[in-house]
Amino acid sequence: MSWIPENLPAICATEPNGSSCSSSQILFLAFVANLFSDSRDKSHKQNAEPKEYDFIVVGGGTAGCVVTNRLSKIKSWKVLLLEQGIEEPQVVEVPAFIGLLPGSNIMHKYDIQPDTIACKMQPCSVSRGKVLGGSSSVGDMLYARGNRVDFDDWEKMGCTGWSYEEVLPYFKYSEDNLDKDIIEENPEYHATGGYQSVQKFPYTDVNTKIAIEAFQELGYKLTDPNGETQLGVSNAQWTIKNGVRVSTNAGFIRPIRNKRSNLFIKTGAHVTRVIIDPETKQALGVEYKYDGKSEIAYAKKEVIISAGTIESPKLLMLSGIGPKEILEKHNIDLIQDLPVGRNMHTHIEIGKLDFSFRNKNYSTLTTLEEMKQDVLRYLKTHAGPDSTRGLSAAMAFVKTKFEKNENAPDIKIEFHPDELPYQPSVYYDSFSVTVILLTPKIRGYVTLNDTYPISGNPAIFTGNLAAESDIDALIEGIHEVLKLADTKIFNDSGYEINKVPIQACQEFEFGNDDYFKCMIPQYAAFTSDYVGTCKMGTRDSGAVVDPRLKVYGVNGMRVIDASNMPAVVRGNPIVATIMIAEKGGEMIKEDWKINNCRR
Ligand SMILES: Cc1cc2nc3c(=O)[nH]c(=O)nc-3n(C[C@H](O)[C@H](O)[C@H](O)COP(=O)(O)OP(=O)(O)OC[C@H]3O[C@@H](n4cnc5c(N)ncnc54)[C@H](O)[C@@H]3O)c2cc1C
Repeated sequence: MSWIPENLPAICATEPNGSSCSSSQILFLAFVANLFSDSRDKSHKQNAEPKEYDFIVVGGGTAGCVVTNRLSKIKSWKVLLLEQGIEEPQVVEVPAFIGLLPGSNIMHKYDIQPDTIACKMQPCSVSRGKVLGGSSSVGDMLYARGNRVDFDDWEKMGCTGWSYEEVLPYFKYSEDNLDKDIIEENPEYHATGGYQSVQKFPYTDVNTKIAIEAFQELGYKLTDPNGETQLGVSNAQWTIKNGVRVSTNAGFIRPIRNKRSNLFIKTGAHVTRVIIDPETKQALGVEYKYDGKSEIAYAKKEVIISAGTIESPKLLMLSGIGPKEILEKHNIDLIQDLPVGRNMHTHIEIGKLDFSFRNKNYSTLTTLEEMKQDVLRYLKTHAGPDSTRGLSAAMAFVKTKFEKNENAPDIKIEFHPDELPYQPSVYYDSFSVTVILLTPKIRGYVTLNDTYPISGNPAIFTGNLAAESDIDALIEGIHEVLKLADTKIFNDSGYEINKVPIQACQEFEFGNDDYFKCMIPQYAAFTSDYVGTCKMGTRDSGAVVDPRLKVYGVNGMRVIDASNMPAVVRGNPIVATIMIAEKGGEMIKEDWKINNCRR
C-alpha cells in the first residue's frame, strides 16, 4: 500500500467558506502525493517463513527496527518483526514535508481524555507513527540526547547500568555524525560509522541565522547540546543525511533487509496479544491480524514488545500483565499484577500561538509554482528549502534559577514557523517561540478503552499542571523570549512580538507575571515526547521492567522502547530510544551467551 494523504478536499468542503483551506494547498498536496507516495522497500524479497522463530519483535518503530537489526545479526537466530503500519513511503524523507503527514495513513491519532490542560485550547490528541520506522518516520527528527544528569538520575531511580558513563557508548555505537565541526569540537561524545546518520540541515534560512544571533546577543554561547555543554544556543542536528530523513527503517533495516536470510518482516500485521503460559509464565508467541485473518507466531527464546509509549501498555494489559483491577474489569486473566500504563508524561510547552513574531522584512512566502519548482529541485539535488525545517533549526537550552543541577537546563526554547497546514514548513511570514519545560512533575496514565478494550484506542489521561515550580520555571523561560524581542538584531530585522493579551487573561497586562500565571494553565500543551508507561527500575519503585528490560514476573518477554524511560530526558526521546534499543539488544545477546556483540 502507498501513502494516502489527508482527504483535504473533503475537509475543506465542511469548513465555512473553506476558511483555512486554499486551492493551492489542495493542489500542492496532490502534486506531492503523485511524486512521493511509493515506498523504496516495496520490492523486498520475503524469506520463506519458518514454523518457529527465536525472537519476535512487536512494532517496527524507532526501537523495534534497531533491536531487529541487532538480533538478526546472529545468523543462527530467526527473527520476526511485526509492524501494523505500511512500508515507509518516500514522502517522509523530505524534511519540510512533516506538516503534510498528519491525517494520512501513516499516522495514528489518539484522543486525550478531556479536562486536561492539553485539551483547553488545542486539538486534544497524541500522534504516533504507524509505519515501518514508527515515529522516527513522522516526527521532527531533532537529535538531542538529553543531559548527563538525566541518566545519572535514572540510575539513582534503580536503573542499574544506565548512568551517563554507561549509556554514552551506546549513543555513539549507532551514530554516524556527518558534521566535521561537531566531531572536532567534542570528539569524545561523537562517532561516525553507525547506522543512524546525524547532521545539520544543508540549508539555513535567514531567520534561523537571526534567531541564533539574537541569543548570542543575550550572552548565550553557540554550543553542541550533545557534547560537553548542553546549555547555550545551537544550530541543531537532525536524524538526516544530506537533506534526507533517516528513520530507523532507513538506517537500520533497509541496508540489511535483503541480505539476512534469518530476518522476516511483516507489515500490516497487528498484534493483539502475547500468548503466555499461565503456569510457567513463559511468553510463547503472539496472536496477530494479517490480511484479514488471525495468525499465531511462536518464539523459542523471547517476545520483545516495541509498540511505543501508548501501545506497549495496551498490549501488555491485553496479554494479562497490568493493574489487577483493570484486568478484572475487562475479564482478562491475570498473569502478572504490575503498574503498566502509569507514569506517562512528556514535556510541557507554552507559546505555540502566544509568542508570535511577524517577520515582515524576511517573509519566505512564495507562490504555488515556486513551491513546485523547489520540490523538483529537491528531487534532483536534495537541497533547497525542502531539505530543512526552516527556522526550527535554532534552539536554546536554558537553566532557570529553579534548576538545582549546575550544568543542566530545565527549559528549552524553540522556534516554529507559523506555516499553513499541508504546506512545507519553510514558507512563512510569522513565527512563534515556544518555551518547553524539560523537567515536568506532572504524571498521567494510559489504560484500556472501557467500551472497546481490544479494537479501541487506549484511554489517555495526561493529568493537570499543578506544581507551582513547573509554572514558575515556564515563566522564567517566557522572560527569555521577551528579552529576545528587545535584542538589537530582532529590532533591526523588523521582528515585532504580538503583545495582545489572550481573551481569558485580558484583565492583566501582557508581560507581567500575573498575566503569565493566568495564561499558562489555559494554554499549556504537551509535546510529542511521551514516555514512561512501562517504566524501568526496581520492582518496589512502580517499575514494569527490570534494568535488563525484562518484564517483572514473566519469562521470555521484554519491553524495549520509549515507554521504559522512568523520566523524560532534557532533550528529545528519539535518540534516547535508539540508545535503549542498542543497549537492550546487547543485553539480550549477553543473556543468551552470545559473545562479540558489537558491530
Ligand atoms: C509528530 C512527532 C514529532 C516528534 N518529534 C521528535 C523529535 O524531533 N525528536 C525526538 O527525539 N523525538 C520526537 N518525537 C518523539 C519520538 O519520535 C518518539 O519518542 C520515539 O520515536 C518513540 O519510539 P518508540 O520505538 O517508543 O515508538 P514508535 O516509534 O512510535 O514505534 C512504535 C511502533 O509500533 C507499532 N505498533 C504499535 N502497536 C502495534 C501492534 N499492536 N502490532 C504491531 N505494531 C504495533 C506502531 O505502528 C509503530 O510503528 C516526535 C514524535 C511525534 C509523534
